Amino acid sequence: MAYCADVADVRLTSLTKSFDGVTAVDDVSLHIADHDFMILLGPSGCGKSTLLRMIAGLEDPTAGDVEIGGTRVNDVEPKQRDVAMVFQSYALYPHKTVQANIEFPLKVRGVAKPERAEQARAAAATLGLTEYLGRKPGQLSGGQRQRVALARAIVRRPAVFCMDEPLSNLDAKLRGETRAELVALHARLASTFVYVTHDQVEAMTMGSHVAVMNRGRIEQVGTPQEVYARPASVFVAQFIGTPPMNVLPAGVVEVGPWLVGIRPEHVTVDRSPAAPTEGSSSVEPSDTAATVTLVEHLGHETLVHARVDSGLGQEVPVVVARLDARDPAPAMGERVTLRFPAEHLHRFHADTGRRVDERAAEVGA
Ligand code: ATP
Repeated sequence: MAYCADVADVRLTSLTKSFDGVTAVDDVSLHIADHDFMILLGPSGCGKSTLLRMIAGLEDPTAGDVEIGGTRVNDVEPKQRDVAMVFQSYALYPHKTVQANIEFPLKVRGVAKPERAEQARAAAATLGLTEYLGRKPGQLSGGQRQRVALARAIVRRPAVFCMDEPLSNLDAKLRGETRAELVALHARLASTFVYVTHDQVEAMTMGSHVAVMNRGRIEQVGTPQEVYARPASVFVAQFIGTPPMNVLPAGVVEVGPWLVGIRPEHVTVDRSPAAPTEGSSSVEPSDTAATVTLVEHLGHETLVHARVDSGLGQEVPVVVARLDARDPAPAMGERVTLRFPAEHLHRFHADTGRRVDERAAEVGA
């Protein structure tokens, strides 16, 4: 492998960043293992770019520590950190060729011309850019420009790649292709990737781990499968998954004080109406009368939106069910029975939104 970086882990300890009274990152501790592909995922303004920039050395922490490869780097200049940053805006030099753009970090380091030309060619080959080496950035597509920015990062052979929404300027098709290329690149380089996005599809398809952020804090860290299957909070449950997890008020699905979540693919729509449960003191679990309010035929699947009859004095919830496109779908306005299989229910504390431990739920704690 021509481009095997020195692998390094990243450890963040109680990291905080405030800007004029705004706490962008709030007491975050996170370990990113060697060769991990860690995604920092969250909505706009949750602090993910600020966290990434502190790893790269582009922001100074207000408090806490950043360690790379076991060394505290708070006071180490970005250039000395062995980190390469790739941004959404490619930040290429428009008047330089692709070759010169890729070589540039090596030129700054004083690497001799033949050697840097050779390294640039190897990086270009890795990213399928060989035939474009003589072109200027203005003669490339957005996807090709982003690959040049990646190649320029690769030649630095950093221990850690920091990427801030690098695909958001690309159209949907190119984003899909580049996602696959980044996964392949990560496997080839054996480096640590830290990747910021608000796009849960990028997080689920590329990350070996995902840290879900909300208001400057990390809500959950896990593999994409873990955060999808066992979300630690209502926030995570509803941020990951399209459509998001249904989260219903206490008492609608089962007796108990918790909010109850269920993924759309786990809701069953029975086209025979159930007896209305409104006003009933004994709400029958997994058997809820509802009225279909919207049916979305998406080709490969059908989304059925249904308003639950049982208001229980609260806002009447709409549940979304995901059906196989081959199954007969109900019509708008049709009365149906929604079933919520017990093994697919998630319970959350109504006050904190945090997941209720399964054993606590069993004993009614
Ligand atoms: P986005 O996806 O929109 O880029 P983000 O999750 O990356 O959002 P950050 O850019 O880290 O969020 O910003 C987190 C918070 O810190 C926001 O409230 C933002 O307004 C604030 N912030 C970021 N940089 C600065 C700055 N230089 N000065 C003042 N406030 C800032």
